[in-house]
Amino acid sequence: MTRQEKRAGTVASGARVLVSGASFAGLATGWWLARLGYRVTIVEIAPGLRKGGTPVDIKPGAIEGLRRMGLLEAVRARSLPPRRIEVRNGDGTVAFAFPPRPFVPDGPDEQYEIDRDMLLDVLFEAVAPDVEIRFGRSIAQLEEVEGGVSVRFEDGERQVFALVFGCDGMRSRTRRLVFGEGDTGLYFLKKYGFLKVVPGRIIEPDVTQIYTVKGRSVMVNGYSDKTDIGFGFHAEEELEYDYRDKARKRRLVIERFERMGGRTAELLDMIGSDDDFYFDKICQVRLSAWSRGRVVLVGDAGYCLSPFAGMGGSMAIMGAVALHDAFRRHGSDFMAAFREYEATLRPFVEKEQEHAADFGRVMFAPESDEVLEERDRRLREMRR
Ligand SMILES: Cc1cc2nc3c(=O)[nH]c(=O)nc-3n(C[C@H](O)[C@H](O)[C@H](O)COP(=O)(O)OP(=O)(O)OC[C@H]3O[C@@H](n4cnc5c(N)ncnc54)[C@H](O)[C@@H]3O)c2cc1C
Repeated sequence: MTRQEKRAGTVASGARVLVSGASFAGLATGWWLARLGYRVTIVEIAPGLRKGGTPVDIKPGAIEGLRRMGLLEAVRARSLPPRRIEVRNGDGTVAFAFPPRPFVPDGPDEQYEIDRDMLLDVLFEAVAPDVEIRFGRSIAQLEEVEGGVSVRFEDGERQVFALVFGCDGMRSRTRRLVFGEGDTGLYFLKKYGFLKVVPGRIIEPDVTQIYTVKGRSVMVNGYSDKTDIGFGFHAEEELEYDYRDKARKRRLVIERFERMGGRTAELLDMIGSDDDFYFDKICQVRLSAWSRGRVVLVGDAGYCLSPFAGMGGSMAIMGAVALHDAFRRHGSDFMAAFREYEATLRPFVEKEQEHAADFGRVMFAPESDEVLEERDRRLREMRR
């Protein structure tokens, strides 16, 4: 570490920096930091890129970011066709249907949907030549020392980095280590979501069907060769269960849906009995600051919008770009860069969080007859 790097508040180009997490936020942040001349190490707790889940929406801010990274064409080439959305009653009848929304590339409505795994691959191939990526590795402790952060990894090794970027998702360990233990910053939206991707087609491709009764929603996304099956339910209070207990999580879903009627029994059969599914409370991350000292958060770790926003992947990419732009303006003054990053992005994040919380409350497993009516009214307005 040079004398300049040791000066409080500044980090010279060429300094070693650490990124925790190799998903959209981590890979994009690593890419942009390498452009600034930093020597980047990315650590990812999983043994490889963590794949699976529903496709990712690429919204305007992220489109611009990907264009600047030279990756937009790769994303366009792999994007999924626009989909038709059918809102169905519990008995299967269609209440509202929204036709696919076509758009013109470079036009005002441009947006894409891309398979989560494909976007990860595109980003990984772009960043891998310029950074060191260590899979199966996680931070265990962070301690600010003179001119850097001393990082102890879970295998006991210690290294000092000039800066640490926490890109490790909604349940970020970086956030817990730096901002406090427990669920610091997690804001529960009173819903739970389950998602399983099954092979094969059970509805038409490029169609989303959403079945809703009071307090419960079922979603089926059809693709050419696979299907997403999602179950969501309202819960006034957080449920108590051991997050490692997959059998219990599956039971929580089955108990709530087995008597819902319609296609639900068939869908419950299809999710099978393996542990390869996603189940979690639906949350946002709301923090009063996104950085502390030499540690800063990017993407879900710092400002998760929740799945209701439909832009977790986009937001992660936009965060990485905003951070880069702030560093470009402030050079080695990382404190000023962190301040500008947050000042630039926070108004957008707060607006999106507010919108997502309200949208999810009404559209996703509406808790009462009144909220169901409100949902129908809003759907009618959206259709106009
Ligand atoms: C496997 C998976 C499936 C998902 N499926 C859906 C879905 O179906 N619908 C939906 O709306 N959203 C889903 N999400 C969340 C959504 O993709 C995120 O909103 C979006 O990806 C935000 O990107 P991110 O990079 O900030 O966080 P994430 O994509 O959550 O990535 C965080 C990364 O950090 C890694 N990590 C976690 N802890 C550590 C640690 N201690 N050390 C090092 N690395 C760590 C994780 O393994 C992961 O690779 C999913 C996320 C994951 C990881």
